[in-house]
Amino acid sequence: MKYINKSEAPRFYRDKVRGKIALIQTMFANGDSRSDIWSEFWNNKNGSKQKKRLRECLLVDQGYVCCYCGRRINIQETVIEHLEPKENADRLTNFNNLYASCSGGNQTTIIAGSMTLNEICQEYSTTSGAIYALNGKTSFQNGEEIKVPKDGNGGYCDHKKNADTIRVKPNQTDVADRFQYSNHVYVEDNKNKTGIGIDAHPNDDEDVTNTIDTLNLNHQTLLKRRRDFVKKMNLEIKGRFEKCANDNDVLDVIERYIGYYGRKNGGRYEPFYFVCLFDLQKKKDKILERIGLN
Ligand SMILES: [Zn+2]
Repeated sequence: MKYINKSEAPRFYRDKVRGKIALIQTMFANGDSRSDIWSEFWNNKNGSKQKKRLRECLLVDQGYVCCYCGRRINIQETVIEHLEPKENADRLTNFNNLYASCSGGNQTTIIAGSMTLNEICQEYSTTSGAIYALNGKTSFQNGEEIKVPKDGNGGYCDHKKNADTIRVKPNQTDVADRFQYSNHVYVEDNKNKTGIGIDAHPNDDEDVTNTIDTLNLNHQTLLKRRRDFVKKMNLEIKGRFEKCANDNDVLDVIERYIGYYGRKNGGRYEPFYFVCLFDLQKKKDKILERIGLN
């Protein structure tokens, strides 16, 4: 998880809240269900267009990755997440309480074009058979909607959290320092495999562990995806390291990668960029320690 620096609420959204707030407050006073109130909030002529615009704004702030796990998300599968449960009119409507979460392993829809069928199966931990069962085909034109089935291993992120609260959140500036990443073993096809899991920093408290559990951030799909992205980065780095003459060259390479993963490139962060940054920092510390000893 990483701190998300939110921009100001866009104008269309502020206007929308102003137009609806009295009705929303009345509905809360009447004891209407939160999901009914949320539907009513979007219930107007341009409702679905406005919802899409809101998703887009949240994604721009977050660099098109999930606010909790860091997976790449696009506009179709973005869930508008209330960081604090929507238990009053302010929390339900306040832009600062809204984040973009991934589908969390729930059934979702993506748009064909950016990934091959194999990549979709890998990204969403599914099979071409399961894609076929939902869509009646496995070959799609660019721009076509593809239904992606539920993750068989249960949910994570918003899908798991639901109306619970978490204590460690992406609106806290120090949030990234409270987590660390290391190898975790999971079982697949009766074999032990190794992914990258998330844990509390050794100096930290049970709030972090509780948050990891509430969001199920050590879900098998996330262990695998973190591993795949860090591995991809390390393969690339290895090639650069081989051309280095000394430790200073190596440190330069690492710094360049820290710069790359630490910023949005073309408006987007790399998926799991904070996991990659953690790994890069570890590499850097190791070298600095060795140089120090020399
Ligand atoms: Zn997520």
